[in-house]
Amino acid sequence: MKEILEKLKILADAAKYDVSCASNGVGRKNKGKIGNSSASGICHTWTSDGRCVSLLKILMTNDCVYDCKYCINRITNNVQRASFTPEEIAALTIEFYRRNYIEGLFLSSAVEKNPDYTMERICKALELIRNKYGFSGYIHVKAIPGADNLLIKRAGFLADRMSVNIELPTRESLKILAPQKKVEKLLLPMKQIDNCIVENKEVRSKFKSSPKFVPGGQATQMIIGATPDSDYTILQASQSLYNRYNMKRVYFSAYVPVASSPNLPSINTMPPLKREHRLYQADWLLRFYKFKADELLTIEQPNFDLDFDPKISWAFRNIDKFPIEINKASYEELLRIPGVGIKSAYRIINQRKVANISYDSLKKMGTVLKRAKYFTTFNGKYYGGIQIDPDKIKGILRQKEIQKQLSIFELA
Ligand code: SF4
Repeated sequence: MKEILEKLKILADAAKYDVSCASNGVGRKNKGKIGNSSASGICHTWTSDGRCVSLLKILMTNDCVYDCKYCINRITNNVQRASFTPEEIAALTIEFYRRNYIEGLFLSSAVEKNPDYTMERICKALELIRNKYGFSGYIHVKAIPGADNLLIKRAGFLADRMSVNIELPTRESLKILAPQKKVEKLLLPMKQIDNCIVENKEVRSKFKSSPKFVPGGQATQMIIGATPDSDYTILQASQSLYNRYNMKRVYFSAYVPVASSPNLPSINTMPPLKREHRLYQADWLLRFYKFKADELLTIEQPNFDLDFDPKISWAFRNIDKFPIEINKASYEELLRIPGVGIKSAYRIINQRKVANISYDSLKKMGTVLKRAKYFTTFNGKYYGGIQIDPDKIKGILRQKEIQKQLSIFELA
């Protein structure tokens, strides 16, 4: 037991740099078994209904044969190594679940010996968890690039979500920091997973009881700030992954300096968390607000303004499109207004069917207008109180932000 706890310490710690561990609450039926995937969610974060949920997040092994410069588990790094057996992974998951510590599993791995060897062990662990212990809870598993397609398929019928980490947004960056990884080898399993998902949907449309393949879809992760790649390059890469492989999520992971190399930022550099946050906001705009990557950034302006979110930055650059008349705008136009979200846009469209919308009535409907008022009119009337000028609006919003921070300090 002591040995397992030692391994757990090493392999849970080694897994903490992987951020692509979200659940979308898929509906795997319980059928009298233990666990329930619909109760699972994002590791150490909150589900859409506001609950904090937990996944056991571990590596199968940190004993890697690869030498990715940015990674703590690279072969040339002097760290304590450990590997779980499939039986140990299965027993730990079930034990933790029974003790109510976790609701699901996030299983990743370094590449031990070779991709097939590692993927085979991952499959065995999942088979034990599902078939021997009858666990129906949420499982997110990594597909190891280079592993045989049959192994990836085997895992996909046991997991709720799979991910293959693209790691870096360009071929050049991979060449510098992860020379053993090739773009084609990383993209191939994504393609295979996508094909299997499509095939499985077709099969299940005819035979409802056939097993589900990766019902929660696939995800990937990109490291931010380990290379000079711009936000524009990163966003273009993630848009292409969404379009080509039906990704459910592209996760961004601010680079935590864990290694020194002439090709990496200094070991004392702070992880670029604000940049990561802006990329997540932009990702949200791509997925739900119908923005395209090259609307948000350009080659000439390749990085996000850290002071303003990507949507308002877009509005500042396209100020000629504003003000937008709330009582006439289409749903798509409403979504472009800073401060108007999906729910508000729907409410506006629905309310307009029965009555004209005034500034006050929109406020009463729950829309926060502190940003939107600078970009809208209501029956032709503008409530911003200043000229529609990006510099003036920026100045006011900055001032408000400072006041907000001061009031937080006063409260503290
Ligand atoms: S293959 Fe994965 S675990 Fe191994 S060094 Fe590269 S990033 Fe790290």
